[in-house]
Amino acid sequence: MAEPSAPLDQSELVNTTLAEGFPMLMFPRELEDRFLLEGEVKRFNVMVVSGLAAVVLFGAMILGDWLLCPEVLPMAALVRECVFPPAMLTGLYVLSRLRMPALNEWMIALAGMLAAVLETVIVLKGQSEWAMARVVQLNIIMVFTCAIARFWPAVTVALAVAGLHGYVVLFMPDATGMLAFNTTLLLMTSIAFVLYGNYKLEHDERMGFLLDAREKALHASLTLAHERLTHMATTDALTQVANRRYFESFLDECWQRAHQQGLELSLILLDVDYFKPYNDRYGHQAGDRCLVAVAEALSGCIRRPGDLVARWGGEEFVVVMMEADDRAVAAAAERIRLAVSSLQLPHEGSACAPHVTVSGGWATIRPQMHEAWPQLVQAADEALYEAKQAGRHRVHAARGMSGGVAVGEARTC
Ligand code: GH3
Ligand code: MG
Ligand code: MG
Repeated sequence: MAEPSAPLDQSELVNTTLAEGFPMLMFPRELEDRFLLEGEVKRFNVMVVSGLAAVVLFGAMILGDWLLCPEVLPMAALVRECVFPPAMLTGLYVLSRLRMPALNEWMIALAGMLAAVLETVIVLKGQSEWAMARVVQLNIIMVFTCAIARFWPAVTVALAVAGLHGYVVLFMPDATGMLAFNTTLLLMTSIAFVLYGNYKLEHDERMGFLLDAREKALHASLTLAHERLTHMATTDALTQVANRRYFESFLDECWQRAHQQGLELSLILLDVDYFKPYNDRYGHQAGDRCLVAVAEALSGCIRRPGDLVARWGGEEFVVVMMEADDRAVAAAAERIRLAVSSLQLPHEGSACAPHVTVSGGWATIRPQMHEAWPQLVQAADEALYEAKQAGRHRVHAARGMSGGVAVGEARTC
């Protein structure tokens, strides 16, 4: 029965980050990595859908070229249909291979900036009176990109678009004298709104992540505490096999099941021979170590998953076996006796061998309505008593049991 261990705990980091806040929308390194990693699949799906939508929208803007600046049509068609789509699709493919969440976020910005640069090239080519008016297309690209990107990449896109916009309004003729000012005002307002919304959304998303992480950590620590308590309540602290309490509830369950299904239930009771003299000669601590070694040897002999090894108390152990025939139980008891003997733990105070040995008694019963498991324990105990009387370092089977239940014949090994 191995003690449950604590899972990786970031709860302190989560709590500190919650307490200190994250106005710059950045977590400490390990938390940031986890944040990006947990959202990776979802974000990548958003990227793919938005990337494809961007290809369609950027291509569809050719309608504006055709209506307002037909002179740029051949070049616009080339850029919109032959440059941007392959660049986007290649980028998405490479990112799907790389699987680097942090890079993905900046690639969204890069895609937006590429679209903005290409759009600027098309707009600058316009010769018509209203050519400059089409600078608002940059606005659309900026809003679209910033709605998808995380905050800092979005800020970068907004700055890049502002720069490109500035270049267009400075160097293209403004036929009306109003366009440069109004489009710039529109862009600035859009940037302010879209970045504010972006910041809020990302802040909420990050806050949701932290609260979720805190809940998970709390849940994990409660589960661990529960597992540890269960372990403590059911395991013998010295030998780490099941304790008496667990043994009794386990036997109780086995008894019910065996009774309902008409199965045989067996019990082996084992007792270290001359253990008091062992303690007296080698000391209590050595006695403890001896019990640990005996428990390990015993556990090593019981291989079936449904069987149980427990410490009955002091230097006595029990083994519960379900659906094992007499021969299998006798063989298991004998295996245990030999396993302990072959540990060769010196025991000069023993009258039956120069090393530590155990005696055992076993019994098998097919539980009946009017019986209870203490009968099984008593039968095994009587067999153990006989083994002791017969000289120790041996295992005995119980004699007949009340209710005429099948019980192994007394046997000396
Ligand atoms: P027998 O062969 O008849 O079983 O003789 P025994 O000396 O083994 O039996 P007895 O019941 O007289 O002594 C059992 C001893 O086991 C007495 C007690 O001090 C010791 N003991 C019980 N629990 C522990 C424990 O947890 N650690 C140690 N070191 N000794 C223990
Ligand atoms: Mg004893
Ligand atoms: Mg003993």
